This record gives sequence, C-alpha cells and structure tokens, in this order.
Amino acid sequence: MRAIRRFTVRTVLPPELASLGELVRNLRWSWHPETLDLFAEVDPEVWERVGHDPVALLGAVDPARLRELAADRRFLRRVADAADDLHEYKTAPGWYQTVPDAPRAIAYFSPEYGIAAALPQYSGGLGILAGDHLKAASDLGVPILAVGLLYRHGYFTQSLSPEGWQLEHYPSLDPGGLPLTLLREEDGTPVRTAIGLPEGRALHAQIWIAQVGRVPLLLLDSDVAENDVAARDVTDRLYGGGTDHRLMQELLLGVGGVRAIRAYCRVTGHPEPEVFHTNEGHAGFLGLERIRELTESRLSFDEALEAVRAGTVFTTHTPVPAGIDRFPAEMIARQFGGDNAWPTVPVDRILALGAEKEPGKFNMAAMGMRLAQRVNGVSELHGEVSREMFQDLWPGFDASDVPIGSITNGVHAPTWVGREIMELAGRELPALVERAQGWEGVNKISDADVWAIRGRLRARLVEGARERLRRSWLARGASRAELGWIDDALDPDVLTIGFARRVPSYKRLTLMLKDPDRLRQLLLDPDKPVQIVIAGKAHPADEGGKKLIQQIVKFADAEDVRHRIVFLPDYDMALGQLMVQGADVWMNNPLRPLEACGTSGMKAALNGGLNLSIRDGWWDEWYDGTNGWAIPTADGVGDPDRRDELEAGALYDLVEYEVADRFYDRAADGLPLRWLEMVRHTLTSLGPKVLAGRMLRDYVVDLYTPAAKSGRALLKDGYEPARGFAAWKLRLAQAWPGVRVEHVETSNLGDTPEVGASLEVRATIALGELRPEDVRVQAAYGPVGLHDELVRPAYTTLALESDGDDGRAVFAGTVPLDRTGSFGYSVRVVPDHPLMDTPAELGLVTVPEEPAGMTNGTLR
Ligand SMILES: *Cc1c(COP(=O)(O)O)cnc(C)c1O
Repeated sequence: MRAIRRFTVRTVLPPELASLGELVRNLRWSWHPETLDLFAEVDPEVWERVGHDPVALLGAVDPARLRELAADRRFLRRVADAADDLHEYKTAPGWYQTVPDAPRAIAYFSPEYGIAAALPQYSGGLGILAGDHLKAASDLGVPILAVGLLYRHGYFTQSLSPEGWQLEHYPSLDPGGLPLTLLREEDGTPVRTAIGLPEGRALHAQIWIAQVGRVPLLLLDSDVAENDVAARDVTDRLYGGGTDHRLMQELLLGVGGVRAIRAYCRVTGHPEPEVFHTNEGHAGFLGLERIRELTESRLSFDEALEAVRAGTVFTTHTPVPAGIDRFPAEMIARQFGGDNAWPTVPVDRILALGAEKEPGKFNMAAMGMRLAQRVNGVSELHGEVSREMFQDLWPGFDASDVPIGSITNGVHAPTWVGREIMELAGRELPALVERAQGWEGVNKISDADVWAIRGRLRARLVEGARERLRRSWLARGASRAELGWIDDALDPDVLTIGFARRVPSYKRLTLMLKDPDRLRQLLLDPDKPVQIVIAGKAHPADEGGKKLIQQIVKFADAEDVRHRIVFLPDYDMALGQLMVQGADVWMNNPLRPLEACGTSGMKAALNGGLNLSIRDGWWDEWYDGTNGWAIPTADGVGDPDRRDELEAGALYDLVEYEVADRFYDRAADGLPLRWLEMVRHTLTSLGPKVLAGRMLRDYVVDLYTPAAKSGRALLKDGYEPARGFAAWKLRLAQAWPGVRVEHVETSNLGDTPEVGASLEVRATIALGELRPEDVRVQAAYGPVGLHDELVRPAYTTLALESDGDDGRAVFAGTVPLDRTGSFGYSVRVVPDHPLMDTPAELGLVTVPEEPAGMTNGTLR
C-alpha cells in the first residue's frame, strides 16, 4: 500500500548542538567544504548513505550518537567555530557596501533555483544561474531578497528503461526534510498570502525560507488546507501541467511573490526592495501587483506604470521565439476581469502590456519589456539576437537602437570548482574568487602540481561514473553477475570529454553520432583513445528529446565501446559538479545562435578543463584562439542535415588532430606540456571573466543602481515626477504625428570630401504642438549598405539654433567624416526627457520622408 502522505520527523537536537541545526539551515554549506567536513564527522557512514544531505543526516543519525557528540568538547568547539564563521560571513561588509547610491534592497524573482542537489527546485541553466546569482550576491554583500515557488515534486528524477528510454519519477518532497523554515507571524502562526481567482475562488500559499548565506529565498507553497484540491496542486511540479496550471504558477510567483515580500519585510523589518529583477518572463505579473499597490493609494495607472518601470529590471534568456512564454489573451482577461478585476487596474491596459504581433496572444516577454525600463540578454551575442527578435516592439527603430543590453552570465566558483583546486587557489591566489584578480598567479603553480590535481579530479569522475553506471544497469534489470565489465569502464588516464545538458533539439545531443564509425575509431584508437561521459534530461513532454537519449544509450550499450562512452542518468548538480571537475575537455555543439549563454563550459574552465565548442553564447565572446577550440559553425548552410554533417566532420577532425594530439604529447617526465600551457591560459584568460561575482558586479553597477536612481527620481515629493513624466508621455504620443523633418541642408561638402573633414548639418523641424525641449534632433551617420541604409550609424545631437513662432525650429551641428569609403547621413527626431533611459523608450521616432543618404559619396 502506498502512503498518501509522507513527512519527515525531525530529530530534536540536544541543546548543546543547537548551532549545528543553524548550520544545516543555512545553505552556505553547499559551497563551504569545512562545514561539510563537520557534518561528515557527525556520522561518516550515515553521511555517505544519505548522499551528503545534512537534513537527511540529522534525521537518520542515531540519537545516542547525538548525545555522545553533545558531550564531546572538541566537537562542540568545532561547531561553535563554524557557527562563528557563518555569522562573520553573513554580517561582514562586502564589496557592495562600497557602491555609492546602491539600492537598499533588491527583489529577485525566478521560477526555479539550483542551490544544491539536496534542494531539487531546478530543471537546468536558468535555475542554476539563479542559484549562482544568489550565492555571489551573498558573497559580495548584495542585499537581495529572492522569490520562487516550492515544488512538492521538484522537476523529476531520470532513469532508463532496459531499452534506453527515459523514465521520469516524481518523488514527493516534504518541506520538513529540506533545509527550509516556515515564515511565521510574531505570534507563531504561519504567514499566509493569497490571490483572488475568477468565480470567487482564491489561491492561498504559505512561505518557506531557504537561507542562502545572507540572502533569504522565499518559496511559495500552495499545499495548504485553505485551498481546494486544484489550488493545492498549483505548486506540484516545475514546468508540469497545461497552460492553465502554468498561469496559476506564474500568478502565484509574480503577484503572490510581491505579497510575500511585503509580509517578509513586515515581519522581519527587512528593508523594502527599491529594485525588482525578474529572471525571465515567468514572474512578470509582479509589475501589475506593484501598479495595483500604487493605484490603490494615490496614482493613476499611467503614473504608477512609470514609477514601477523605473525600478524594474528584466532579463531575457531565450533566443528562440518558440521558447517565449505566452498565454491566450482571453485567459488573462478572465483572470484580471469580471468579478476578479482589480478596480484600479483596467483589464484592457493589462492586455495591452502583453500584446504582440499575433492577435489574441498575451506575451510575457513583451509585458516584461514594457514593465521594465532596463532589459538585458545574457551574452553579447544573445543581446544582439534579442534586439532583432524584439525589434517589433520598437517600430521605426533599427535593431541596434532596441534598448536591450547584455550582461554575460557567470558561475559561482566555490560551488563548481573542485576542492583541490580551491585549496590550491586559497594558498596561491587568495584574491582569485573574491576580487576576480590575481589569476596570473596560476603561473606560479608547477606543471606537476596542476597535472596531479587534474588527474585526481579525472579519477574521481571515473569512480563516480562507474558507481552511477552500475546503479543504472541494475535499475535496467541487469544482474550483478553481468556487470563485471563496469569495474574497468572508463580509464583514469584516458583523455576525457564531458558533455552534459538539457536535451532540447538545438543542443544536438547526438551530433557526435553523425558518423558512428568515425566516433568508434576515436574511442578505440590504440594510441590516443578518447572517452566520453554524457548526461542530460529531456523535458517529459519532449518525445523527440527522449529519442535522442535513446540513440546515445544504444550506442553506448554496445560491448565494443561501452568502456569508452557512457550515459549517466539523472543529470543534477551533484553529477554536474563531478563532470565539470573531472572532464579534460568540455564539449558543446549547439545550433548557433540558439544558446543564449551556456554556463557549464565556464564551470569546466575554472577547473582547468578546456572548452571544445561551437562559437555561441559566452564562447563566441571569450574564445581567443588559444584558450580552447572553436568547432567551426556552418550556420550559413540551409539544409540542417548537411549542416550537421559539416559540423560533425569538423568536430571529429578537431578531436583527432588537435585535442588528442596535444593531450598525448608527453615530455620525458610524462607531463603534457603543451596541454598544460593551454590549461594555464584558460585559467588566466577566462578565470576572472566567468565568475558570478563579476556578473553580480555588472548587474549592480549597470542595472540595479541606475534603476534605483531612476526609481528614486520618480517618487520624490509624493511621486510628483512620476505624475509629470506620465503626463508628458501622453502629451508626446498625442502630438507626435505633428512632428516632421521639413528640410535638411549641409555645407562644407566639396566635390571630393576627404577623411578628417566635417559636415555642417542644419535641419528644419516642424514640431506641431511640441516645444523644442520635448525632442532631441540627431544626425545619424556612418557607412551605407547596398540599399542606401545606414549600417550601425553613429548619432550626434544637433543643437537648437532658432525657434520660430510658426511651430518650426532649426537644429544644427557637425558630423565628422571619420572614415573612408561609402558614407551617408540622415536626421531623426526622438522624444527627449531627463527621466528617459534610451531614445527608443517611447517607441516614437520621425525621419525625413525622403530616404536617407542624401550624400552617398565615397570619401578618400
Ligand atoms: C550548469 C548546469 C546547467 C546549465 O549548463 P548549460 O551549459 O547552460 O547547458 C544545467 N544543469 C546543470 C545540472 C548544471 O550544473
């Protein structure tokens, strides 16, 4: 008989060990090996059995052992030291405390978080990034208050059928068995938050706190008695269920999330956030809730929208249009209309925020961009792709003007870097992680030391892989007697390639199988063999992805290669750590440019692994010719099959002639000197860049602080500037059709203009109802393309020269002829207001009716 409910009975710790309980409840242990050592000491055997899960350890350890420890003075001293260290870590001022004007607090919203394998609330890169964001924020003292959902079944755990088909399991998680505490009112009752649903229903939630160093992560949980059965299941699974279910989750995350933050600040005295950051569009409803708050007290919808936008940051993560989160508009109308409408937030205004080209759709990314004054992608290339992808939202502007910037992702070194390397780094390079400095110090470490550590990490991967392989085969129905070969599967001295990722089609799990014979040759090469460790989960609804996994598994099952290529089920953070630390080479072959950033290769690089990847995402930006290898992309080739063939061929050649050659080229003392040179170069060139600390600093300096300043500027004097700005925008939009470029004249341009000369530009602009200070008139200039279009033009602002009574004004300025070759210019008029962040903000622009390029001469 199956249990209908499962829960964990927690151990009552002896009072002497109270601090041990605190250490367990702060997830800092997930990146702090000394604390893990302490847990191991509680009972080494149980610690192994529970898979290094401290909550499970305390649940499983014999109470007699706890009593023994409570009397062990040496152990108690160690617990006290660790607790002191945690306290010091949480309260010491960090880098953030030196940033002028930084926000008092920042709210961070994400649908998933990868903090530790023992808190399985993530599916892939988005969640892992969110986890690393919180950890780096904690390290640097950034006052983030994070919000997510607590999924009672997490994502899923993966195993394989005998035929190699992915099987999904949804173990039920009991919050009592996780490192969480319930948020309570002062009188001890659990805090509740609720949101209204149509037809008089409501969705209630309680709030769990996962403490990530100094960052509290609030997780909303709808499994409470006040809910009906359907509402209780809203937070059952991550990315499970249909559209309706997803909408409920996103409402709870966005609207409920803001309410949870208000409750948390009320109960704990934590400062209210000045900036709200939404990691992907799922939490976008948070902007509506904040508009509602402001409209209920004092502002109109438009005024509140300005106040909210100024302090909102939106990060987009997908370059795939199909990956954008969308709902049928009528679902949104039902949720925010009728008997469930918010009186001060008209439903048609909400619908307009999510409108997109296709009628009847509500687009969460479009709403994210309209509700956030600052938007970014997650690598330079992804920023560029996003500007093109969302260009429709800023009609009339070139893609290069679309106000989407980029901050390239990073990874949290203490989470992902092998302990041996961290310890070496701690000795040799104290500043390495904290300040992203000192990486040149890698050159002081001897070749022999670097190689010895790489060998240890590789051997650990081989051991771990064998263990997992054995478990997988037993689960697939094999008997122990047939599994003797696993003792020798993989070889701790063979060049090891790691390949782990989710399995959407663009990541091309099976590209390496394009020519199976060639792959077999590489694996079985007598002198320079290669071994490959593979892992990845397909989304439960993705039959295509599961077929790809099955193809890999079938290939790897074959007796002749099974000791050189393995698929390890259930890719999670623990397996990820093992792989990125142990692999000599980290392979990635997405279809360019569909990988927004990618972070697993960064983790490998920090461990001295070399990247072998298509130049996509971060690798497009930071590959420098000698810090790894770039698989040539055939992204101009239209036929996908042919493209795969070309790219796979290039991959095999690289592995055979470059990678393996270098790895097996040994000096007399057995050291692969040319390989180690590349490892050093990887560490020194990529080390400082790929850190989550660098990413956090970028967010704080480029986005959070400017957003806080904009937000503060709007709320002065009881939101007077927000009122003025909203009224101005309305006036601009109404009067804009009256704006025209009437006449443009130039002087100084002889027959054969020469580089270094300059051009006087004078433009007469009809302003209609507007004043000259409402607009900015700019000369755009630069190289000209085939159809007379300006290619990535530069802009210079023309100054007001004269302002007539007839609604016309003349603006003039100088354009430098700063390059040879074909050159053109034009003029544009955009709105101008001190509270705007970019000229494209209102989506209004006027250009001359005659096309650009009034001169299209060639400069000498
Ligand atoms: C790092 C990581 C990811 C994301 O890696 P990508 O390179 O973006 O695919 C996904 N899952 C796990 C478990 C990870 O550790």
